[in-house]
Amino acid sequence: MPGARSEAQEQLMITLTAHAPPNISNGKDVYLWRRLSGSFAQFFSSKETWEQLRLHPPLVPWTKVIWFKEAVPRYSFITWLAMKGRLPTKDRLRSWGLNIPDACVICSSGLEIHDHLFFDCSFSASVWQPFALRIWPNAPATLASISSWILQAQSPVNSNAKIIIKLLLQTACYLIWREGAKCTDLQL
Ligand SMILES: [Zn+2]
Repeated sequence: MPGARSEAQEQLMITLTAHAPPNISNGKDVYLWRRLSGSFAQFFSSKETWEQLRLHPPLVPWTKVIWFKEAVPRYSFITWLAMKGRLPTKDRLRSWGLNIPDACVICSSGLEIHDHLFFDCSFSASVWQPFALRIWPNAPATLASISSWILQAQSPVNSNAKIIIKLLLQTACYLIWREGAKCTDLQL
């Protein structure tokens, strides 16, 4: 083998030279995959491998507002991006160098940032508020306060009310975002 040209390569060579070469008399050579427990198995599991590769940051308090059994995956995904402020809103597009107007394409009277879309915008509020008010009074109008409100609220209606309000929130986020994206496409 050629001389090691990096520390990682050197470690690999040390490891290889510390092992006896394969010998057919010891049985057939097979691939082994490391399990979460540290043992090895012959079958590959994407879940076990992903769990070992990924970072495990602490859970955010609003995780149950986004991910739950009854949720619609594409709605959850858009709401998750909205909660993290990662949707490509116009302020973000402009910060990436795109020369586009920064006005909200839905109401034309505010800047298109996450807080405006969810739910400062008069159109967004008119979608979210009437539905939310049918479940609980005094529904708040920012994603952070809506999440806290959902998690802490005692349902006055029935045990499915929290599920319904979460679905309403996610559906509103998804449809508002889709509407905004459609208008932006037309504008561009
Ligand atoms: Zn607006």
